[in-house]
Amino acid sequence: MAARLKLSSPIESITGLAPAKCELLKKNFKIFTVYDLLHHYPFRYIDKSKVYQVAEVDENFQYIQLYGTISQFQMIGEGAKRRLTAKLIDASGEIELVWFQGIQYYQKSISQTDTYLLFGKPQKFGNKYTIAHPEIRKALPEDISKLSGFQPLYPSSEAMKKKGLDSTGLFKLIKQAYTYLDADEIFEFLPNELIKSHGLITYPEAIYQIHFPNLNAQILAAIRRIKFDEFFQIQIQLKRLLAHRVHIQKGFLFPSIEHYFEKFYHHHLPFPLTGAQKKVLKEIRRDTMQGRQMNRLLQGDVGSGKTIVSFMTMLMAVDNGFQASIMAPTEILARQHYEHLEHYARALNLRVEILTGTTKAKDKKRILDELEHGKIDMLIGTHALIEPTVVFKNLGLVVIDEQHRFGVAQRAALWKKNEWPPHILVMTATPIPRTLAMTLYGDLDYSVIDELPPGRKAINTMHFFYTHREKCFELLKLEIEKGRQVYIVFPLIEESAKIDLKNLIDGYEELMKIFPEPKFTMTMVHGKMKNDEKSANMDLFVTGKVQILVSTTVIEVGVNVPNASIMLIENADRFGLSQLHQLRGRVGRGADQSYCLLMTEFQLSLEARKRMQVMVESTDGFYISEEDLKLRGPGDLGGTKQSGDIQLKLASISKDADILQLANQLAQHIIVEDPELSSDKYKALRIYLHKINKEVKPWSKVS
Ligand code: ADP
Ligand code: MG
Repeated sequence: MAARLKLSSPIESITGLAPAKCELLKKNFKIFTVYDLLHHYPFRYIDKSKVYQVAEVDENFQYIQLYGTISQFQMIGEGAKRRLTAKLIDASGEIELVWFQGIQYYQKSISQTDTYLLFGKPQKFGNKYTIAHPEIRKALPEDISKLSGFQPLYPSSEAMKKKGLDSTGLFKLIKQAYTYLDADEIFEFLPNELIKSHGLITYPEAIYQIHFPNLNAQILAAIRRIKFDEFFQIQIQLKRLLAHRVHIQKGFLFPSIEHYFEKFYHHHLPFPLTGAQKKVLKEIRRDTMQGRQMNRLLQGDVGSGKTIVSFMTMLMAVDNGFQASIMAPTEILARQHYEHLEHYARALNLRVEILTGTTKAKDKKRILDELEHGKIDMLIGTHALIEPTVVFKNLGLVVIDEQHRFGVAQRAALWKKNEWPPHILVMTATPIPRTLAMTLYGDLDYSVIDELPPGRKAINTMHFFYTHREKCFELLKLEIEKGRQVYIVFPLIEESAKIDLKNLIDGYEELMKIFPEPKFTMTMVHGKMKNDEKSANMDLFVTGKVQILVSTTVIEVGVNVPNASIMLIENADRFGLSQLHQLRGRVGRGADQSYCLLMTEFQLSLEARKRMQVMVESTDGFYISEEDLKLRGPGDLGGTKQSGDIQLKLASISKDADILQLANQLAQHIIVEDPELSSDKYKALRIYLHKINKEVKPWSKVS
């Protein structure tokens, strides 16, 4: 008797599932528990109610169902190569069948006078089709009209297939797990009238029908409910966090801004703030006067001037005796922030320090000591700030820059540094569409800088094919002659990093010939370089000592060299839209006309062509982010993968906006009605969320 299972049971507790298979399931699909297994969904179904004619077989069929008699058995080959062939014959023609194993069994048990229903995968050899190891069963003509059901096809991997965990193997396993699951493990967690009124089926129905459907309508209904659940889980948790923060979580008060803030504003501001910058500062000011924790997302297009806003917010903290901190995603950015802020802060006599992974042990010790004793007002850093050894005396504000690289869990780690959570200001690198913001940051309040500093000229973007390479270089030379600086960017993508690195180095050597010294000066940075070397080379460019910076996307976020006026992006089709927009944002930071040249081969996919077109047409980050979302398929969203916070298996933020809207609406409705989920009506939901969080897959908790 096989063991009873719970959703939280590890897959090892499934009777008969070999350890090697468990390892593969974990490694290939992150299937650790029975819950994970039952939420491993088919990517497609084969309609088993339909029977085709042999003459209809073509390459388009992954699987096909046929009906006929089986005859003309033949034994071919010797030893390990021995195989049995036969023909399936119907009124339209015949097709070859082949067996490599169980030969004797099939030869004996198939009767040449009976009719069979056959199911299998046609493969073409030469101009002839063969079906290897088909599923067969005896069937009378009248059985055909009663056929129903769908065969689910599950995602698998080569390694899994070798171990018998192909689609069929997975189906059997899922069926077994489902059969032995305790009956009360999967239950409806929303009130019936709520789901009914929105045309949703129940959660138990959805799980059953996604794996074992009989009708197409059942598949569609199951998919809709599961997509809903994926969004709903996220929305309800974010809204609970939000409610907790608004109603319960105390926050520091920053009532006074008389000293540093005012002084900076009146005497040291390097330029007048834009209306949008002022508006955001007012919003932040309001947040920090309410006695609750601020958790605000600041969206603003590249170059819209988020840095000064963050600095002035830090001044609000310092004015009230608190320390403030900025966390940046890369070393380069942290250093750049440090240089800017140090410059501003010096005028105010404030202490700013930087702490990153490369800070020397001796300096680190001193910084940590001074930090703990409140001698440092502002600390700039990378992930290194999250380490437990970093202890502030009284951290009042954390600014997280270009944040899509930090997950909710990482944000949470910073909170732990205080008894009370500091105020949090999260700044995005590029605008993100509303639907995505809602999904990723539904727990945050939201500000937008929707205005660029005055005098900016829109960047002129052009798309060139490699055949017009010379022309591009002419444009670069023209800018250099005017005293401006140039970026040349090469793609470097993780999986093919070696080849890409070679491309970059080869490209660099070629560029050296096109831009020879001493007339031109050039340097290079890439991610595989040592940090020291990278910083040194970067400095050469930032300080204007070299004209041309050849790089990979390490310059993507935040780097600010206003004198750089032209960027050439090699193999631009290999970048996504938001990445291109980010890259392009490195130029056009001064008052002069800037250019972005996108270079590609002539042969381009339709999608890549569209991307180039969007870039040439628009410099509006909000528009580009919407287009980006439309162009990219499900599960492929910027940042969400790295952050690891969001697991959408079926739902797609770009394609299922209506279901997301519904999930958001119901979650809102529930939280307003019962913020603590303490009523009987939402008891099941409370239990469900608890199960999901604690037993099944721990949701990175923020508070
Ligand atoms: P981002 O929002 O991309 O982080 P930055 O804060 O780096 O943008 O600002 C981009 C450039 O614009 C910087 O050189 C900055 O000094 C300048 N800048 C910011 N605000 C203003 C303003 N109100 N007027 C003029 N220049 C500004
Ligand atoms: Mg920035």
